[in-house]
Amino acid sequence: MVEHLQRYGVISSMKVAEVMETIDRALFVPDGASAYADSPMAIGYNATISAPHMHATCLQLLEQNLQPGMHALDVGSGTGYLTACFAIMVGPQGRAVGVEHIPELVASSIKNIEKSAAAPLLKEGSLSVHAGDGRQGWPECAPYDAIHVGAAAPEIPQALLDQLKPGGRMVIPVGNMFQDLKVVDKNMDGSISIRSETSVRYVPLTSRDAQLRG
Ligand code: SAH
Repeated sequence: MVEHLQRYGVISSMKVAEVMETIDRALFVPDGASAYADSPMAIGYNATISAPHMHATCLQLLEQNLQPGMHALDVGSGTGYLTACFAIMVGPQGRAVGVEHIPELVASSIKNIEKSAAAPLLKEGSLSVHAGDGRQGWPECAPYDAIHVGAAAPEIPQALLDQLKPGGRMVIPVGNMFQDLKVVDKNMDGSISIRSETSVRYVPLTSRDAQLRG
């Protein structure tokens, strides 16, 4: 899977290739699913695990903000795959936090991570996953060098902007039917720069009730 993404130019970073080899996607997809196919997959509760090329793209966009010792937040952490990748990249001196609003997914993501190479980090506490509304971020471990949002927001939540460190970067899909993956940089003077990376299709960042209603 990683070689395929490298061959097609999706992965150019050695670090991202390494982390995606370290965290085995097979541990995070439903039993019997073809783990290494480059497509999103249903995980229940109207949620999906993102396609490997989207995980790779987001990891690369955030790579400079996932250095050892840095703080990373994964909103809508779903299966926990990307949260585990973040934890490996920021290491035991860093902090990787997942927030997911479906408690059952939080529980299963913790089980997935426990089987993965990120298990020691979960045990030591540099990696954690919490049930909650990710639109509020996770203030306890703020500010963050990196914020990833795994569901499409109608607009960028102010709480997430507030929890971004100067010099920090957020990657967030924005839109409804048509969505853009936005790269949001907080400059050292606190001003915000935003650019669109690519068109994407994510499940909505919404309330738990709205999501379960479909
Ligand atoms: N990166 C995850 C993506 C999961 S899909 C993965 O690859 O596994 C998006 C996730 O966002 C879903 O699990 C959904 O339940 C969650 N979500 C949607 N709105 C949310 C909200 N307001 N707060 C927290 N999680 C939310």
